[in-house]
Amino acid sequence: MTHPLLDLPPLTAERFAAIERRVGSLLATAHDVVIAQGEALLPLEGCVRGGARPGSAALNVVTGPYGQTFGNWLRDCGADVVDLEVPFDTAVTAEQVERALAARPEIDFVSLVHAEAATGNTNPVAEIGEAVRAHGALFMLDAVASVAAEPLLPDVWGVDLCVIGAQKAMGGPAGVSAVSVSPRAWERLAANPRAPRRSYLSLLDWKERWIDTGRRALPHAPAQLEMLALEACLERIEAAGLDTVIARHTTAAAATRAGALALGGGLAPYVHNAAEAAPVATTLRTPAGVDASELVAKALAAGPGLPLIAGGGALAAGMVRVNHYGADATPEAVRDSLTALGTALASALGGSALGGSGAPVDVAGAVRAADSVWEARG
Ligand SMILES: *Cc1c(COP(=O)(O)O)cnc(C)c1O
Repeated sequence: MTHPLLDLPPLTAERFAAIERRVGSLLATAHDVVIAQGEALLPLEGCVRGGARPGSAALNVVTGPYGQTFGNWLRDCGADVVDLEVPFDTAVTAEQVERALAARPEIDFVSLVHAEAATGNTNPVAEIGEAVRAHGALFMLDAVASVAAEPLLPDVWGVDLCVIGAQKAMGGPAGVSAVSVSPRAWERLAANPRAPRRSYLSLLDWKERWIDTGRRALPHAPAQLEMLALEACLERIEAAGLDTVIARHTTAAAATRAGALALGGGLAPYVHNAAEAAPVATTLRTPAGVDASELVAKALAAGPGLPLIAGGGALAAGMVRVNHYGADATPEAVRDSLTALGTALASALGGSALGGSGAPVDVAGAVRAADSVWEARG
């Protein structure tokens, strides 16, 4: 008996190359695209280990947990790392990056996360890219949480290595990912004697065995199901229009923020400045005395399947994340999330919604505020 997920004909080199081209159009890039056969941490690690050399200096911008991971990899590679860390409830500014670069002229690699799903902030990559280009360093961007949620223009912004994954705003699979590689980045990797070779982390192996040989034969068996899912999700984005998908995410974020502000009860946006809030996910601070993990558990008991999660690690006690991305970038998911959170919050504060003994929690007002954002943006 055949099964829809099994017994598939092999994924051809032509089809693989066609999926690569579609990723290139999604990123509006003229550079080579490598589709990594693993989750986005695979190309991210490949980029860091390919770009950093012992004795080189790297600027690692830390605006959330992924930046900390990159810093550790860079140090592993023997690079002298300058960590530019800003509070996770803000974005880094181009001026901060400029100053850090000016203080260390020898910096030749810069790593940055575009949007942080974990903390809910987004960084001004276009302006930062100008500073990095003026300095002449290689620029790596983690755009996993920004692709399809907000504009992403790696070539225009001077990004040399732009890594994406399909599992967030693209609404696709988690098991494959992609990186666009500028000609400058290929030169840097090729000139780095410590860049991974004969390794699953090696972008250079992939270039030599796939790109430079005319994309005629795949070096090894591709992650077939994930590639088909990636193709399907690219088709779906193309059919809807990338701008429409992005608009759904920016509106979901604005609606969630407006709803949370109207909700009251001490639940407040974690990222103070709305302009620095990521369209992919909205993070909220819980009021003193309300544990975020318990609040989320209570909300999920009432609304199973809602895109709610407590912050990771040290943020688990005080942060709630509304992951309104992919299939959840909708008015319904936002409304239901606000309702479940508001109801759980009212009970945690020891009152009922509006008029209880605790701080007033206005669930109906929150839903109205969120809906009016969707209506205003058509
Ligand atoms: C989601 C995400 C990734 C992918 O990592 P996972 O931990 O596997 O989800 C990488 N970078 C950023 C900024 C992300 O938001």
